[in-house]
Amino acid sequence: MSRNYYIAGNWKMHKTRAEAAELAKALAAQLKGGKHKYLVAPSFTSLEAVGAVVKGTNILLGAQNCAPEEQGAHTGEVSVLQLKDLGVQAVILGHSERRHIYKEDDALINKKVKLVLQHGLEVILCVGELLEEREAGRAEAVCETQTVKGLEGVSAADLGRVTIAYEPVWAIGTGKTATPEDADAIHAYIRKVIGKLYGPAAAEQMIIQYGGSVKPENAAQLMAKENIDGALVGGAALKAETFVPIAQFS
Ligand code: PEP
Repeated sequence: MSRNYYIAGNWKMHKTRAEAAELAKALAAQLKGGKHKYLVAPSFTSLEAVGAVVKGTNILLGAQNCAPEEQGAHTGEVSVLQLKDLGVQAVILGHSERRHIYKEDDALINKKVKLVLQHGLEVILCVGELLEEREAGRAEAVCETQTVKGLEGVSAADLGRVTIAYEPVWAIGTGKTATPEDADAIHAYIRKVIGKLYGPAAAEQMIIQYGGSVKPENAAQLMAKENIDGALVGGAALKAETFVPIAQFS
């Protein structure tokens, strides 16, 4: 398997600029020379401060969301052009908190995915089922729909800048982690969906991160699974002492 591991930290609505820059400095020092791909996604307000720290390091600068339009009368939104201007290299889209708290649907997420790719940035597209959907045996179907609709109209050439994050909603911020076997089964299914859409080579190359209460104690077991290619980390990404061991799992 030739896929590289990709570990991303989603800092959500945490940290002032000074706190964010301090964490970024610790990560830049401790992950220097690290063998995987790394990204941190601070709040919009800290992007410039964190960008100044991670510039020229092996840590990419990510944003947690962006508007579905380039510019215009969209009070409270932040555009991909503004993110690019700050040096943002990747945007997390379709996070479950955006889908379920802010009611973003697949069509809106797809619009954002295409816009971000059109401007040359990378995308982390999050998919994942609710607990009731899992209990009703619909986990695969939900992830398939979110993957297919999220990628509608994305060319095979642009797919190389897309990472998928499988994040079962019931595991996010709850301390409950999917078992490595359950997570791997959904990752394999998503890979099959990519294969149907883009062919076997694209499926083989697709990086699929797992997200949902990843911690230093469970990272290695998850990452040992054939179809798990990294992690999207929330709570444990807020401190260097918990993010670094995940990023350096062995
Ligand atoms: C996330 O927000 O993407 C996430 C996976 O959070 P946590 O690690 O806290 O469950």
